[in-house]
Amino acid sequence: MTLLALSMEHVQYLLDRKSAGRLKRKYLNVLQGDKEADEEVWYQQARQYRLDGWSFAGGVGTDGGPYRIIRRLLTLRDDGLLGSGLNWVHLLKQTQLRWAPVLTAMQRGIQRSIGAEDFKITYDSSTPYQEAGKRERFVEAPALGPSLVGWHFKYHKFPTTFGVATAAVPLSLATATCTAQKCTMCQSQGSHLDAPLLSPIAQLLTIQDLLERKGNLITRRGSVLADEVLINHNVFTVVEGIIRANEAVFSATPNAPQELIDAAGMVADICNRQSWHTTLTYHRTFLEKAVAYRPSKNVL
Ligand SMILES: [Zn+2]
Repeated sequence: MTLLALSMEHVQYLLDRKSAGRLKRKYLNVLQGDKEADEEVWYQQARQYRLDGWSFAGGVGTDGGPYRIIRRLLTLRDDGLLGSGLNWVHLLKQTQLRWAPVLTAMQRGIQRSIGAEDFKITYDSSTPYQEAGKRERFVEAPALGPSLVGWHFKYHKFPTTFGVATAAVPLSLATATCTAQKCTMCQSQGSHLDAPLLSPIAQLLTIQDLLERKGNLITRRGSVLADEVLINHNVFTVVEGIIRANEAVFSATPNAPQELIDAAGMVADICNRQSWHTTLTYHRTFLEKAVAYRPSKNVL
């Protein structure tokens, strides 16, 4: 049995339970297909099964870039498969600053064109969790302005050496550098953190609070508290960054790169058209550059 047939069998099971009034949660039908031909085969099958919306995976979603996402969204719209009970589209593997305003432009464009304000595009990513939980890395709060430099999330290694764990003077997580009396790391490297941790939880704690295992031969000095604080910090900082990226483009006084303001305008224009293929194809390269999209070989 193919993956497609297997998936549709599962979807049919959910639909049977839904019609029996036994589904308490919302379910999205996943659209797959890294290659465009596979995407089309999958779509022609999947479109016959109406759950509560659609989830764009692999090449249909983030891996396929904004051109393919918009093409799929507008195809769904034109086929009458968005809105009224199908008001939710979710993207997998997605939390990037340059994408955020472009995705908001897509959401607003669809909302306007089908007259459904409750239509939502959501997205998620495991990166903020994995960077902290697996690699003890924390994210720096991005500085967002009119230059594209800085419009990406930068992760740094959290210091866990014996010297830091046993430092006589506790070092606040909210400052990267000692001001008055410099610690040994500041003396030798100029700072004790690659960036300050400015999330609400991190501002209350010191580096030493998180390094509870002080032994000389310990391989992982960060405690369970350290994992939880770094994960919380990463999730907060990423979500807050995504909100700021949207505000930078869509506020009354935008303070964002012109490329992103233009890209949002193009998406609005494309979604506004009944005949949109030519305009979308015309803007394809611009939109892909705006979000720094580079296709991997499995989607070509
Ligand atoms: Zn220092």
